Amino acid sequence: MIAQAPDEQARHGGPLVPTTDKIPVPVTPWADRLRHAAIILLAAGIALAALAAFGEISATAAGAVFVCVAAAALVPWRLHDAANAREEIHGVSPVETPVVRAIVAGMPDPAVLLDRAGRVLHLNAAAAQLAPALRVRELAQFALRNPEIVTALREAIATAEPRRVSYLDHALIERWLELIIVPVQVPTAFGGLDQCMLMTFHDLTPLRRVEEMRADFVANASHELRTPLAALSGFIDTLQGPARDDPKARERFLGIMQAQATRMARLIDDLLSLSRVELSAHVRPDTQIDLAPLIKQVADGLEPLAKERQVAIDIELPEAPAVIAGDREELLRVFENLIENALKYGASGGRVAVAVAAVNSSDGGTEYRVAVRDFGPGIAPEHLPRLTERFYRVDVGDSRAQGGTGLGLSLVKHIVNRHRGRLLIESVLKKGATFTVCFPPVKP
Ligand code: ADP
Repeated sequence: MIAQAPDEQARHGGPLVPTTDKIPVPVTPWADRLRHAAIILLAAGIALAALAAFGEISATAAGAVFVCVAAAALVPWRLHDAANAREEIHGVSPVETPVVRAIVAGMPDPAVLLDRAGRVLHLNAAAAQLAPALRVRELAQFALRNPEIVTALREAIATAEPRRVSYLDHALIERWLELIIVPVQVPTAFGGLDQCMLMTFHDLTPLRRVEEMRADFVANASHELRTPLAALSGFIDTLQGPARDDPKARERFLGIMQAQATRMARLIDDLLSLSRVELSAHVRPDTQIDLAPLIKQVADGLEPLAKERQVAIDIELPEAPAVIAGDREELLRVFENLIENALKYGASGGRVAVAVAAVNSSDGGTEYRVAVRDFGPGIAPEHLPRLTERFYRVDVGDSRAQGGTGLGLSLVKHIVNRHRGRLLIESVLKKGATFTVCFPPVKP
């Protein structure tokens, strides 16, 4: 209960009483009530004095009636005060003003205002959703069962000092929340200040996820770099030791070392490209690029790999130029990655088909779609949603053996997103996989 300052009570003539919508309003001030009682007593006094003067009643009887009238005028007033006092005991607080209520309601995060005993004065809709058991005028501790919250709340109430606690909320979905409790001086309806506690809850889940992703990313990147590095230093030791005078072994080991060094360089290139694309993710590229020559250029560049894997690359292009707004270097990386993956992982199919299709969009523009299809082993459905995650591979050994970094499709996704396009991945096991990049429609 919030004690009412005596000077405030004197100034306003009484405590607050709740109206039906629970917004308290001040009751009739003391001065007004005194005036009303005085008028009643004056009227009764005059009437009784007149009756006594005309001999209608005796002076003693007139005095007795006057005492009764005075009691009738004053006793309900005391009863009314007692009733109000009971309301106050039941928790109606002088800080339950519409302004304070509006401020709490307008807070974007879940917010609850407590009195100094920890009873809920106001809570906003977000708080009600977060903790449906919270009730106005009831102790918040009863509704918030989490031990960390209860301890923080008790400490904040006991010390009147701020408290901050983060905890895992298991309510509807699991999420990390932070509760901040700060003591606040809230203006009362009487013009004074009252000590309250403001509890606000903040969802830390996105932040935690980013932190986890960053930690995972650093761990993965270091691991990926450490593997070829360990191989390199192992071969250096061998070349300096047992294989020092073995020219055949030296040739073989130098070949492996070169492949490992190339893998490291590729990994660093991919990491840098990823961070560059992420940095410029908000800027949509605007150079006019014709997709047909770009795809031919990529296919020509991958011809040696195609020969090595004995795979034929079939290209199907529209007759008219397929011009989109894009970034040339980034688009080259997209198609290099997709066609190279098809050649590496789908080689057993013996054929890779690259098709550029123009599709009329509903708003009268033309949407270009580039599909890279292979006829290899395909990808099991459970892997499809995760393929564009950094360092995700269906078969880590296979990817490493192919010189893969696990970053190719992640880079593709980021570049496609920057172009405001979509990447679709479809696959049927044993029948190959199709990666389709859809660019946003180009207005005629
Ligand atoms: P990597 O550097 O390993 O190739 P990517 O991000 O390009 O990394 O690809 C991720 C994984 O997706 C690959 O390791 C491979 O397991 C799988 N993958 C990609 N393309 C194909 C494909 N055309 N057919 C089968 N699996 C594929």
